[in-house]
Amino acid sequence: MNETIDIKINKVKESRIKSIDFNNIVFGTVYSDHMFVADYYDGKWQNFSIEPYAPLSLSPGNAVLHYGQSIFEGLKAYKAADGSVQVFRPEANAERLNTSAERMCIPEVPQELFMTGLKELLSIDKGWVPKSKGASLYIRPYVFAMDEYIGIRPSNTYKFIIFTCPVGAYYSEPVNVKIETHFTRATPGGTGFAKAAGNYAGSLYPAKLAQKEGYHQLIWTDALTHEYIEESGTMNVMFIVDGKLITAQAGDTILNGITRNSVLTLAREWGIEVVEGPVAVKDIVKAAEEGRLEEAFGTGTAATIAQIQKIGYNGTDYELPPVEQREFSNKVLEKLDAIKYGEEPDNHGWILKI
Ligand SMILES: *Cc1c(COP(=O)(O)O)cnc(C)c1O
Repeated sequence: MNETIDIKINKVKESRIKSIDFNNIVFGTVYSDHMFVADYYDGKWQNFSIEPYAPLSLSPGNAVLHYGQSIFEGLKAYKAADGSVQVFRPEANAERLNTSAERMCIPEVPQELFMTGLKELLSIDKGWVPKSKGASLYIRPYVFAMDEYIGIRPSNTYKFIIFTCPVGAYYSEPVNVKIETHFTRATPGGTGFAKAAGNYAGSLYPAKLAQKEGYHQLIWTDALTHEYIEESGTMNVMFIVDGKLITAQAGDTILNGITRNSVLTLAREWGIEVVEGPVAVKDIVKAAEEGRLEEAFGTGTAATIAQIQKIGYNGTDYELPPVEQREFSNKVLEKLDAIKYGEEPDNHGWILKI
């Protein structure tokens, strides 16, 4: 950006914060007072503002409603013991937003605009970052088409918005997952690596069917053979077999998770052997049968680590060791939490303090 980022600030007359019961928050239902908004038109981002969180006005012919030209990010801010607010790896989200943008023909959001908007918003709404153990402020940046036009082409106008939601400690019961052998989330050459809205719409139906069978969510396999494991639900997925950490290589069908990257970074520092490559279903099933599948878990911003208790494949359920016995995933979760909540020094440059 060669112009300065001048943000117009229009604060709420009265904060809603006193009406919120911070001990009973259902994920994604409570919104903080303000949002950051930027408009794209005439070939550039402009009209930067912080406004009261409020409904938008959209034309019924708005392109995003019809063709889904829309991308998003998800990250979190944490309240440290010293009262400061710590955001985990926001630059990585800014970068990934632009990876998604390119694939969806959405104009890039300059990193400086993303970061300035985020910092300004958080400094105004920092009182919304919950203090209790495990709680955090979920941050949702997103960009979507705004043209009133129902022909199919990339929109000429867009909105970039950031809003935030206080969230409680993530419901962290271990989950039962089913290895999906028919439906697919992503295909080679497709949009699986992008956080594009439509990817999630397409995943709902297969997930619903799995839930009817008694599973919490799916393990997605590759579109061509269904023989290789890709992700679990909307998380990356990792396994510990014979002491090695195994996960699929991030590529065009696998979303490049920031939690994934953080977990792999710590694992390597701890001297654990990391195998990033094709994860064959048959190898995981065989390891489970032979009692060598020590751990299985999803990684993502919402839960950090989501433990997997049971894996269903072709009608057989494979039970994993109790969560308390899982050395690596418990240790990595503890370490990441310690960094996020400022209980341990941040040696990786992962924390932005507000
Ligand atoms: C967001 C997301 C992830 C996890 O990414 P994080 O950066 O770790 O939150 C993994 N898979 C999919 C499909 C996702 O949308």
